[in-house]
Amino acid sequence: MGVNSIPENYLNILACPYCQADVKQSQDQLVCQSCERKFPIKNGIPDMLPYDDISPKFQLSINSWNKEWKKVGLPAKGQTKADPSYVYVTKFICRHAPSENEWGPFLEAGCGNGQLALLVAKEKKGLVIGIDACHEACEQSRQLFDREQEEGFFVVGDLRHLPFKTASLGYMFGWGSLEHFPDTQVAVQEIYRTLRPGGRVNTSVPVISLATLGYYQIWGNIPELPLIKPLAEWFHHRLLRGRHLQYGYEKSFTIRGIKKYFTKVGFENVRHGRPDNYYRFERPPWEWLRALARWLSQFRLFWLIVYVEADR
Ligand SMILES: [Zn+2]
Repeated sequence: MGVNSIPENYLNILACPYCQADVKQSQDQLVCQSCERKFPIKNGIPDMLPYDDISPKFQLSINSWNKEWKKVGLPAKGQTKADPSYVYVTKFICRHAPSENEWGPFLEAGCGNGQLALLVAKEKKGLVIGIDACHEACEQSRQLFDREQEEGFFVVGDLRHLPFKTASLGYMFGWGSLEHFPDTQVAVQEIYRTLRPGGRVNTSVPVISLATLGYYQIWGNIPELPLIKPLAEWFHHRLLRGRHLQYGYEKSFTIRGIKKYFTKVGFENVRHGRPDNYYRFERPPWEWLRALARWLSQFRLFWLIVYVEADR
């Protein structure tokens, strides 16, 4: 047991990603109390990916991001709290949180290497959970939290089969995760299921604009538009066999399109906006061009991402 022993308060939230029944710990694995599927735990991180239902497009995303996180590695000590992009988003998360006593449990969907979750954990009391489809991401998150002596819990899983009980979460935050697989609606339905009444979701995705139709094509972003989407999917996945897709499968949405996914499953007060975060723009080699891109990104025609927020 030891490192792989899941604390009670987190174990109580977890559920089988296939049938949503309770899971129990049995040595180094979690066992579903209904369908009896087993989920191994490694370094305190349960692997609750639904391997029976992972499409080639999603597998491509997982592989690309595993590679990406291995390249990025653990941030140096003090690096996260000095990084304007993380500081901006942490402020955004806190400002947009549901009322103070309904904050938790907080889930970051697509937690990456845990830097954002870390700043949130430092800001708030209560449970902080991160989920990511990449082992490497969860592993780095775990190491980061251990190093910073913060409490948090990480699980490898899929947004379309969330390994949490119905109505168990208070606030779900996910930037840059919903766009990485074709079936957005299933994931939004799962978010609705796992949030408790009064809970809130805030998610951000690439939005279709002059900027994303141009800049995001460097890594083969797929605009979710009639005719264009199937063509772009065919071009990248069939013709180029994913060679051009640095971040795996990635879509961009119209504002109307992404909001519709939320209203359709019953979310209330579905609203959107431009997140006032800090864009680094690593690709252009000149600072003047990066500054111009940052300035342009405030105008709707050049928005890169849009946040959608909704109440359960
Ligand atoms: Zn089950």
